[in-house]
Amino acid sequence: MTDQARAALVERLRSQDRLDDERVLDAIGTVPRHEFVPDERRNRAYVDSPLPIGEGQTISAPHMVAIMATLLDLRPGDRVLEIGTGCGYHAAVTAELVGAEHVYSVEYHDSLADTARERLTATGYEDVSVRAGDGKQGWPDHAPYDRAYLTCAAPELPRAVVDQTRPGGLVLAPLGDEPQRLVRVRRRADGSLEREAHGAVRFVPLQ
Ligand code: SAH
Repeated sequence: MTDQARAALVERLRSQDRLDDERVLDAIGTVPRHEFVPDERRNRAYVDSPLPIGEGQTISAPHMVAIMATLLDLRPGDRVLEIGTGCGYHAAVTAELVGAEHVYSVEYHDSLADTARERLTATGYEDVSVRAGDGKQGWPDHAPYDRAYLTCAAPELPRAVVDQTRPGGLVLAPLGDEPQRLVRVRRRADGSLEREAHGAVRFVPLQ
C-alpha cells in the first residue's frame, strides 16, 4: 500500500518542471516517508505537501526535497552538511544519493534530533550523523563539505556554513523573508561566491 502510494507520488513529481533527475526520483521512491512523519499523519505521508512534526516545525514537501537534491547535484561519496534535521526525512533522501556515512546534520531542538536519530536507525540510515545544536555554527569537526544546505530560512547564509564548504562546493538555502528565495551559492577557488536565485519558497525560520 505504502509502496504503491510512494510510486504514485514519484510519477506525479516526474511530471513537474525541474524534476527530471532520475537518481533523485529513485531516492524519493526508496525512502519510506511514512516512517518519518508522526503516526497520526501517516495517511498523508505520500501527499506532496509539508506536514507538522512537532515543536512548531514541518517536514518539507517531497517536491521541495527533490528540487533541493537536484540543485545540489549530489554524487556518491560527497560529504554533505544539513542544517535542520527535523524528522530526518530529507537527510535520508540525501543519504540515498551520497551514502549515509557522508551525511552530517544539525538540529536545533533536542527532541527532534532524538526522534530523527531513532527514525533514521529504524529505516536503515543509522550511519547518518545527527547533532543537536545551533546550525549557524555548522559542524566544524567534519569539514570541509562538498555540499551544504539549510532546511530553514535564514536572513543571510551563515558564515560558518560557507567557510566549512570546500572551494568549488555548493551551498543551498532559503534566504530572506516574504518571499524567501531559494539561493544556490558556489564557493569559487579564490573564496568569492557566485550566487543564483531559484525561485520563491516557504520554509520555517532559522532559530
Ligand atoms: N529537513 C527536515 C525539515 C525540517 S524543518 C525534514 O526532512 O523533516 C527545519 C528544521 O530546522 C526544524 O526542525 C528546525 O528545528 C530546524 N532549525 C531551525 N533553526 C535551526 C538552527 N539554528 N540550527 C539547526 N536547526 C535549526
